[in-house]
Amino acid sequence: MLYSIEKVTTLIGARRYGTADSAISWILTDSRSVCFPEDTLFFAIRSERNDGHRYIADLYRRGVRNFVVETLPEDYATAYADANFLRVPHTVEALQRLAERHRDEFNIPIVGITGSNGKTVVKEWLYQLLSPQMVVTRSPRSYNSQIGVPLSVWLLNERSQVGVFEAGISQRGEMDALHDIIQPTVGVITNLGTAHQENFSSMEEKCMEKLKLFHDSKAIVYPYDDETVRRCVASLDYKGERIAWSMTEPNARLYINKVEKSGVTTTVHYTFDGRPGSYSLPFIDEASVANSVTCAAVALYLGLDGNQIAARMAVVEPVAMRLEVKEGRHGCTLINDSYNSDVNSLDIALDFMSRRPDHAGRKRTLILSDIYQSGKDGEALYKEVSDLSKTRGVEKFIGIGPEISAHSAVIDIPEKYFFGDCQDFILSPVFASLHDEVILLKGARRFSFDHLTELLEQKVHETILEVNLNAVVKNLNYYRSFMKPTTKLVCMVKADAYGSGAVEVAKTLQDHRVDYLAVAVADEGVTLRKNGITSNIMIMNPEMTAFKTMFDYDLEPEVYSFRLLEALVKAAQREGVTGFPVHIKLDTGMHRLGFNPLTDMDELISRLKRQNAVIPRSVFSHFVGSDSDDFDNFSAHQFELFKRGSEKLQSAFSHKIIRHMDNSAGIEHFPERQLDMCRLGLGLYGIDSRDNSVINNVCTLKTTILQIHAVPKDETVGYSRKGILTRDSLIAAIPIGYADGLDRGLGCGHCYCLVNGKKAPYVGNICMDVAMIDVTDIDCKEGDSVEIFGDNLPVTVLSDAIGTIPYEMLTSISGRVKRVYFQD
Ligand SMILES: *Cc1c(COP(=O)(O)O)cnc(C)c1O
Repeated sequence: MLYSIEKVTTLIGARRYGTADSAISWILTDSRSVCFPEDTLFFAIRSERNDGHRYIADLYRRGVRNFVVETLPEDYATAYADANFLRVPHTVEALQRLAERHRDEFNIPIVGITGSNGKTVVKEWLYQLLSPQMVVTRSPRSYNSQIGVPLSVWLLNERSQVGVFEAGISQRGEMDALHDIIQPTVGVITNLGTAHQENFSSMEEKCMEKLKLFHDSKAIVYPYDDETVRRCVASLDYKGERIAWSMTEPNARLYINKVEKSGVTTTVHYTFDGRPGSYSLPFIDEASVANSVTCAAVALYLGLDGNQIAARMAVVEPVAMRLEVKEGRHGCTLINDSYNSDVNSLDIALDFMSRRPDHAGRKRTLILSDIYQSGKDGEALYKEVSDLSKTRGVEKFIGIGPEISAHSAVIDIPEKYFFGDCQDFILSPVFASLHDEVILLKGARRFSFDHLTELLEQKVHETILEVNLNAVVKNLNYYRSFMKPTTKLVCMVKADAYGSGAVEVAKTLQDHRVDYLAVAVADEGVTLRKNGITSNIMIMNPEMTAFKTMFDYDLEPEVYSFRLLEALVKAAQREGVTGFPVHIKLDTGMHRLGFNPLTDMDELISRLKRQNAVIPRSVFSHFVGSDSDDFDNFSAHQFELFKRGSEKLQSAFSHKIIRHMDNSAGIEHFPERQLDMCRLGLGLYGIDSRDNSVINNVCTLKTTILQIHAVPKDETVGYSRKGILTRDSLIAAIPIGYADGLDRGLGCGHCYCLVNGKKAPYVGNICMDVAMIDVTDIDCKEGDSVEIFGDNLPVTVLSDAIGTIPYEMLTSISGRVKRVYFQD
């Protein structure tokens, strides 16, 4: 659906600057995701951490001509003569208004879903239940925020027959806006958990806020057995139908009279409006059962009959929220997206791939199965797939399935191949010849891409370190919340990003526009550059032998001594380098490296002034004990020394020299000392060094059980007969040892890992490649997964057990442990 720019101007009540004709079909809030610039309207949004107005020039260069802004660029009339600027007081409100007006165009059932858990699953399952019959438009992934909801609703188009949208809130007052945008005709509340409770005075208050979504809907679907929800719904002054579902109350509109579990399926027997029915579901956990009942209630209300529901419930698919990045064979990188296959989620995955730089000149390859999306004829659907792939930089296209093969002609990518199914592809020379490519795999579940992914993966070891890139971003934003928007940030990715893998983490950080990345030595910087990292990079321990490398790759060294400064200047002069930025380190109390801020400054200034090969870009020092209040006085003393030294340096130069001192703990505890820039390390990886608590866990080290032995009492386990058994035991061997970074000190019962959620202590000495654990009291079998540390067992439990710090634990994970990256 196209909107003329005049129409948009009126709908959002903007003042328009510019006269060019334009038609809008895409709206954009994240400048990095621009795809079809000519038809795009960009909303410049200001948040605590960022300001969309900063990206207008860049977007203009890339072809975007229509902008909604709060303030006009100063040179709008000259530099942007053929563009339209729509000025509004508040861009988020304008975006919401536009979505609201767009929603008004549709007289179709719209399902609005809220609740603490299960929103996305309910949305996706409803889609699976309804879409064979109706064209369903739904929120992509979990777009449910003040910005995500308008972007979702904008997807409604001429073909839509039903809309299914999520609404998520975290504080009071947010639901009114979401209600106006979604205007649900059917409201669904999944459940009421404790998430975001800190922003509400009671569960009731939160529930009432959520229920605002529904106040003029025709029906509400809700769980009667949740007492708070029941009471709140009963207290509403509400005219529509109340569709309660219950496992206890036979008078509920949807009464679940029996739930039977057998093996991996659950059978649910129900009565709806007095008529009996039943369905089976391929899941047995409580949450899935509750979600399925919610979906059944909505589907019954929308007119599906019991047989249709039963047929489709039997094949509902799990909802995978993660995009995984894995190292593949033959130099390939695999991006695996098993989220439902449709055009919107394909676009999000392609966007992810195109945003990750890859300067090794590797080809971008898409392996895509048939897409199941009703309401579009194949020709139009695959034409859209082709357009998206092309603009997102796909160079090689591999289509799998009869549908996509039948439309091979519309795929306009020079290198393309088509196969009837995965097996044909696996047996083909095209499969055998994959090498040095970045491959996005996106397959509908019935094409079983799992097997394909497995073949493409590099299999080394059954032990993996899972790295959650979303958590990295959450931690980044957590620390940014202590900083002023103008304060710059260095992210420490030294020691292979504290063990998590520098390249992928750096890509994520660059994508989130941090100002600097810092590594220890030049080689680490070179690796980043070779993988397409263009951010500023700082080298903390520059080796004298690597100056030329630093000049060649634009790696800015720290300078901490006169000897280093002289050698660097000489090398620069030899290479004809001038004005190379360096970072001056002052020693304010660590007594490790650095100039003395009291006695060295005059000499340092005079030496810097005598040459033009290098210039000080920043000056910094490092706290000795920002992670403990025991040292608060000393920290204050360090800061005073730093101020004296750095002010002296600055006063000798006319250009601005960036000053920085705070590390992770400093950012949190001395935000008043943030100066011009901060350096974030351990906090990025999810650990608060002050109290060893976990903010958002990033790394999970996992392995699997190789073998289980029944070992009688009084026998011993492992080398040197250290593990003496005091009872008949079940001992499991796991493929991880001290060579992987599992410290030997954890052995002999000093610590434990988790098997199926239960603690399994290490028995006997940890070996080089294997460890043994006691699983006597745990229901488990060979092949089961074992968590060494991570989401359920904080790494600090391990570091505390052996009297070290989490930094050491994380950076000890050896390179042979495969890293797997994922993000929602
Ligand atoms: C490693 C390092 C940091 C980061 O410290 P965290 O405690 O991990 O935040 C900051 N500055 C310097 C100089 C460092 O070497």
